[in-house]
Amino acid sequence: MSDIADQLRHNLSAIEQGIESACKKAGRDRATVQLVAVTKYAEWKWVEELIHLGYQHLGESRPQQLVERSEQTTARVRWHMIGQLQRNKVRKIITLTHLIHSVDSLKLLTAVDRIAAEENVNPRVLLQVNVSGEESKQGFSPAEWKEVWTEVEACNHVRVSGLMTMAPLVDNPEDARPTFRKLKQLQDEMNQSSRVELRELSMGMSHDYQIAIEEGATLVRIGSSLFEGLG
Ligand SMILES: *Cc1c(COP(=O)(O)O)cnc(C)c1O
Repeated sequence: MSDIADQLRHNLSAIEQGIESACKKAGRDRATVQLVAVTKYAEWKWVEELIHLGYQHLGESRPQQLVERSEQTTARVRWHMIGQLQRNKVRKIITLTHLIHSVDSLKLLTAVDRIAAEENVNPRVLLQVNVSGEESKQGFSPAEWKEVWTEVEACNHVRVSGLMTMAPLVDNPEDARPTFRKLKQLQDEMNQSSRVELRELSMGMSHDYQIAIEEGATLVRIGSSLFEGLG
């Protein structure tokens, strides 16, 4: 157990330093950035150790694993659903999740709103935006934004709290910057023209989180560098 804890502490301290230095560079307060520990590939004993170290914000990409893991612990975990979500899986996770990052279509948005009404909950969600326009990526295109917004304003149960994106896979993290910047611009535009306030920007992973923070990320989703050296 203690080897796991040592390695995790080591990794976490490197990530923490990275977050702090990016905040400093951008003139931001460290408290404005939340680390979401992405546990999708982590063994359960590593996750337990992470929880033990005081980390509460955990991200899973498969609904089934999120459900199973939420049943395996009595600790207070705030589960983040970050992966593709099918409509028939929404009911399973809706009462368990702190935040759904991956609402990527109008059909999914309206399904979440309807199910939220039926379950009498007000889930917080982010809209996933395909900023880079890659075919392989999920999410709304900035071009369909008007239509999306009409639908967002019609939702009575879901609380749309922000935007999420995945940057293209690039060797140099600096090349992800334009994607992050565009998401931030979209957030600013929406906040000027709508009654719904988008506070959150979920962007940045192991490779590029510092750039994302410089561009305004409030949630960074970090997996591989957190569990490096384990297993
Ligand atoms: C896996 C995953 C991450 C974490 O990526 P790493 O490169 O391992 O840090 C972040 N966001 C999403 C949506 C993921 O699926």
